[in-house]
Amino acid sequence: MPPFELYTPDSIEQALEISGNLSRENKEFDWIAGGTDLLPNYKWHINSKNYVISLSSIDELRKLNNVHIGATVSIYDLANSPTTHPVLAKAANSIASVMIRRSGTVGGNICLDTRCYWLNQSETWRESIDWCHKCDCGTGADCRVIPNQNTLCVATYQADLAPVLMCLGAEIHLLSHKGKRSMKLEDFFELDGIKRNVLFPGEFITHVSIPNDSAEWIGDYQKLRQRDSWDFPEAGVAVLWKTNPDNTIKDLRIATTGLESIPAIHHKEVGEALTSWKGEDSVDDLADSIRKAVKPVQNTWFSPNYRKKMVKVLTKRAFGNLLVE
Ligand SMILES: Cc1cc2nc3c(=O)[nH]c(=O)nc-3n(C[C@H](O)[C@H](O)[C@H](O)COP(=O)(O)OP(=O)(O)OC[C@H]3O[C@@H](n4cnc5c(N)ncnc54)[C@H](O)[C@@H]3O)c2cc1C
Ligand code: SF4
Repeated sequence: MPPFELYTPDSIEQALEISGNLSRENKEFDWIAGGTDLLPNYKWHINSKNYVISLSSIDELRKLNNVHIGATVSIYDLANSPTTHPVLAKAANSIASVMIRRSGTVGGNICLDTRCYWLNQSETWRESIDWCHKCDCGTGADCRVIPNQNTLCVATYQADLAPVLMCLGAEIHLLSHKGKRSMKLEDFFELDGIKRNVLFPGEFITHVSIPNDSAEWIGDYQKLRQRDSWDFPEAGVAVLWKTNPDNTIKDLRIATTGLESIPAIHHKEVGEALTSWKGEDSVDDLADSIRKAVKPVQNTWFSPNYRKKMVKVLTKRAFGNLLVE
């Protein structure tokens, strides 16, 4: 692993002071939490930095209850807390292996680097194909997926928590030496496999907040992956709904992951389906419109066509017994 200078602040104020000083000195750095994504990338010499600031010793970032999830709450704690929404707990429990869930954090999962099989390889392997745009080692190399261009990276976002959090209406809260800001989680991501999200240098996630009505949402999260023991999602679909007292559908949200450079919430497709909801037939039509809406590319294990087909299957499975007439 390339050497780097590690800072380990134990308060938010210290973290802001260190990040502010590094920014003023034009020294590029990364935040680190559990390190289960950043360190493998560093070991493969993928866009490593000379300075790293750890958030893992800051107690304030570990608060967890039904409306507040601190950025450094471990995925294991989230999955096993009685205050966690059951669909969120299911998604958390499906992430990687238990060892990774113990170290990996909610903030790190939301900010997971996008993945591509032309990139997540050793340095020697990538050198043998003359690199690619996302880590071009100063060569100006083209993207290997969308060829003849070196301005766009379409690496895939393959984290499981975001689609469920988006369906619950979660907000994300950010902090830097310039101040605080908050936004809907769906507005946090940027359709760019390199930049990935709206964070600017020196800004970090403090927590995610969950609206008070989360207990009224029921549903499921379904995931396609190569090996159930620990693989990243090749496709993930969260479906959450609210029902009226007579069990008719009141509201519905669907979000997907593992299919593009950002997770996506499908307001348009759901809105159209809800205007004339016809139970099982609507589920079938809606699952098909989600299949058409997603645009995977050839850069993960399974083919884009298979992943698209499986999106329809996963969406129908996630509806489970909600077939309201
Ligand atoms: C073998 C393997 C299998 C995996 N399988 C899955 C899977 O099935 N599903 C899945 O979702 N993930 C999977 N992962 C990824 C794993 O979930 C993530 O590595 C973990 O959630 C990242 O959390 P972390 O705290 O370790 O992040 P880190 O590695 O510490 O950081 C990851 C990124 O987030 C940034 N970051 C971290 N915290 C913050 C913050 N508070 N504010 C701003 N930026 C921050 C870092 O700068 C870095 O860019 C797998 C990983 C491995 C190694
Ligand atoms: S999508 Fe293109 S630029 Fe991005 S990592 Fe893959 S090959 Fe590289």
